[in-house]
Amino acid sequence: MNWYQLDVENVERKLHVAANRGLNEKQVEKRRKQYGANELEAQRKTSKWLIFLKQFQDFMVLVLLAATLVAGLLGEYIDAIAIMIIVLVNGCIGYFQEQKAEKSLEKLKELSAPMANVLRNQKWSKIPSKQVVVGDVVRVASGDRIPADIRIVQSSSLETEESALTGESLPVMKHATAIRKDKLDAQDQVNMGFMGTLVTRGSGVGIVVGTGMDTVMGQIASLMVNTKKVMTPLERKLSELGKILIIVALFLTALVVVLGVMQGHPVYSMFLAGVSLAVAAIPEGLPAIVTVALSLGVQRMIRKKAIVRKLSAVETLGCASVICSDKTGTMTENQMTVKELYLNGKQLYVTGDGYDIRGDFFLTKAKLDKNFPNLETMLLYGMLCNQASIIVKKGKHYIDGDPTDGALLVVARKMGLTVSTAESYRIIKELPFDSDRKRMSVVIEDSNQRRFLITKGAPDVLLPRSMYHMDEDGRQLLREENKQQIEQAISDMAEKALRTLAIAVKPLSKHDDLESAVLEKELTFIGLYGMIDPPRKEVKSAIEECRNAGIKTVMITGDHVKTAKAIADNLQVLPENGRVLEGQQLNEMSTDELEEMIDDTYVFARVTPEHKLRIVHAFQERGHVVAMTGDGVNDAPAIKASNIGISMGLSGTDVTKEASSLILMDDNFATIKSAIQEGRNIYENIRKFIRYLLASNVGEILVMLFAMLLSLPLPLVPVQILWVNLVTDGLPAMALGLDKAEGDVMKKRPRSLSEGVFSRGLGYKIISRGILIGIVTLLAFMLTYQDNPNNLIYAQTIAFTTLVMAQLIHVFDCRSEHSIFSRNPFENMYLVLAVISSMLLLLIVIYWQPLQPIFHTTALSVRDWMFVSVFSALPTVLFGFSKK
Ligand code: ATP
Repeated sequence: MNWYQLDVENVERKLHVAANRGLNEKQVEKRRKQYGANELEAQRKTSKWLIFLKQFQDFMVLVLLAATLVAGLLGEYIDAIAIMIIVLVNGCIGYFQEQKAEKSLEKLKELSAPMANVLRNQKWSKIPSKQVVVGDVVRVASGDRIPADIRIVQSSSLETEESALTGESLPVMKHATAIRKDKLDAQDQVNMGFMGTLVTRGSGVGIVVGTGMDTVMGQIASLMVNTKKVMTPLERKLSELGKILIIVALFLTALVVVLGVMQGHPVYSMFLAGVSLAVAAIPEGLPAIVTVALSLGVQRMIRKKAIVRKLSAVETLGCASVICSDKTGTMTENQMTVKELYLNGKQLYVTGDGYDIRGDFFLTKAKLDKNFPNLETMLLYGMLCNQASIIVKKGKHYIDGDPTDGALLVVARKMGLTVSTAESYRIIKELPFDSDRKRMSVVIEDSNQRRFLITKGAPDVLLPRSMYHMDEDGRQLLREENKQQIEQAISDMAEKALRTLAIAVKPLSKHDDLESAVLEKELTFIGLYGMIDPPRKEVKSAIEECRNAGIKTVMITGDHVKTAKAIADNLQVLPENGRVLEGQQLNEMSTDELEEMIDDTYVFARVTPEHKLRIVHAFQERGHVVAMTGDGVNDAPAIKASNIGISMGLSGTDVTKEASSLILMDDNFATIKSAIQEGRNIYENIRKFIRYLLASNVGEILVMLFAMLLSLPLPLVPVQILWVNLVTDGLPAMALGLDKAEGDVMKKRPRSLSEGVFSRGLGYKIISRGILIGIVTLLAFMLTYQDNPNNLIYAQTIAFTTLVMAQLIHVFDCRSEHSIFSRNPFENMYLVLAVISSMLLLLIVIYWQPLQPIFHTTALSVRDWMFVSVFSALPTVLFGFSKK
């Protein structure tokens, strides 16, 4: 059976559903059980065992395990078992971290999963596409990805792009009529919509006939999305850096071993010490920890309503120097209310707020009623040329659909016009709104079978298409002076920050060609709507914060230049000498001219989505890192081209979401600011733990190296080195990844994309602190050993304790780019807890007798602790005050 061959009624009958009601809950439940979830079979996941084993695949760890085995065979059971346990615990921690990162990324995927608009129990609602079942009635509109295979039952200029299936990138027109042919290929089944293909224009309704693997897309397994993990720039940089560090650490370790052997230490014990040192000092896990830090940051961002789609965006966010933001809905509430009308050459005022349907019409002070000429007609036309509907929940009115359309319904209701008023009109054709056309039209037939076209849209688009205008005496020719008058009215409204919309009509005869290119021409201008869309409260301060952080905010809007300017002034986007450019001006400008002007430009008005791409490129040419927002299907190229593409969680289309690297769950500009702040913070935290880990590693290697150079015994035994690597380098480093931002994180200029990991003095800090940690540990060891030449274990315990304590004090220094005293150490309780638990573990290892032989330790006295405290505090005391 081919669905495309069946009439809509047959499809409805076969699937037991009515297209105007949808399924009921019972049916949905039954079908969900019968057919399963609407998803393509997930790719096979890596098994947990493999992830666990991966933790031990590192070359040096393998060498260590081999060396331990040899130690075991030689009778050094205790050392061998201790080392084994430490390696195992280390592996477990790695495993759990990786699992956690994986889970948070899974959650992200779920959050940004596509949604479908379905009709169930006569109610439209948005549900995750995964939950769609056969028989569901779904509505799709421009920008959507079709959630399942559907038989189209209603189409208004519906066009889809099916290149993912057919390779054909030209859009296909879709209709609802059955096709009586046999064996048609997917591309010829023009009354079907296929899962995963894109709606490029118009809208439509369809009944789901296939879900999950039972779709055309499901059959083409090879087309399944490739979800291979891509490294972020920082992960890549660090893994390259890691390679260099491995060589340096291996070289130094080899030096330690060779020197040790030359000094007469036994080859076997030097080898084990060397390998342990290599395992501890080689930062092979750095990229993995960065992934963990990034994914933890991503979770924090989710709490702030920003969903990161690409991990690399977290890094790039911190570099953003320009945010190009849509005005409507992102900077403003997108809650339109008609405040003024312009009709018969007169300015009318409408009272009432938001979508509340109570309100009155006034001409100066006189209240108006239905009898005011053309008023009812204008309001009725606004209702007919409309794709939204009013819904009532708990006595309050809301809008389902475009808020601009919604405002027209509400203002019509204020004059008593309801859905039943519109019922005597039949819609024959709909030309939907899009930001390029900036207008929408419908062809209507009234009860006397008279046809006419209603067009509404941007006034400067409709006016040139108008030949006549309406006044109290009926239709008149539109003369130059009328035009000027209307333009003045538009300008007056726009200056008050009102969004302007014109409405026009054109009588048609039955024989008029509805496909004709001149259909929307020779219109009769009726009037103007002026609607207010209040700025979001939190946006003004967010813009200010961005400015302080060296980030420029640019407003991009399809609205009238004066409306845009008024709102930009209100939000303080536009500085005194700031430039406002219009789409028309952009058209006339060369790329070079645009680049020259773009640095002073803060508002782009009356632009189409195509202009956005030029704007992104121009800013990038000027060396900026650009964040660009978008919601419509045509915004996708600009979003893709920008450094950080941002899409809207509420109003955005699937296409823009897919092209973007960040989704704003609440469509709010202020969320971009929070995301940037978080992005900067995550990067700083990564720097913090790199600083801590590497300085610790430098310290560890140097103690051993200096000792060998000075012909001393080994200051640390292998298990101690491994313990330091596990405990001291583990917990506190992770806690640094969770640190709060430093107070000035949004007061600095954005970081450059090309900035190296060790820039801004980080390399110097690592080396200088590392050397000092090495020196104080060695000094403590030397002095103790000198006084107690017969008690090496005692001297080693002192060295071990000094090294651990020096690192635990140093970790607080790593929290700040300034001095250690610039931050309250108790601010990061994770860190405090990590340090306390490391210290407790240290005490256990030193004082608990059963562990003493394993860790080669002995109990320390109070005097010893005072001695250790002085030495371990030295590196931080010496450098803690300085910024360098
Ligand atoms: P942005 O989100 O970029 O600020 P915008 O909402 O300001 O976009 P568009 O949606 O492209 O810009 O709208 C541009 C103009 O088109 C509006 O100023 C208005 O005159 C007109 N317009 C907006 N919505 C509709 C609609 N639903 N029907 C007809 N015309 C519309």
